[in-house]
Amino acid sequence: MELYNGKVVCPRCDGNGLIGKHKVEDLKIIIYICDECDASWLDEDVSLDRFQDLTTFLETRGIKYKDAQIVDLGYGWFKT
Ligand SMILES: [Zn+2]
Repeated sequence: MELYNGKVVCPRCDGNGLIGKHKVEDLKIIIYICDECDASWLDEDVSLDRFQDLTTFLETRGIKYKDAQIVDLGYGWFKT
C-alpha cells in the first residue's frame, strides 16, 4: 500500500484520494472509503482488484447512499 503523510493513498484513482475509515451505522460495519472516488473496502486490504463502489455496496444491502449514516473515523487507521 502506498502512503502519503501516514495516510493510505487510493489505488483506484491514482493518488488523488485518501482512504478513510468509516462506520456505517445502518449496518454496524467498518468500511474503508476513498474520499475522492468513493471506492470502498470491507477490510484493511486496500487493493485495486478488491474495491466496491460505495453506492452499489450500500444499495445491495438495501440502503440509499443519501440516507446512509456513515461516521468518519479518520485517516490514521493504518499502522506500519
Ligand atoms: Zn479513489
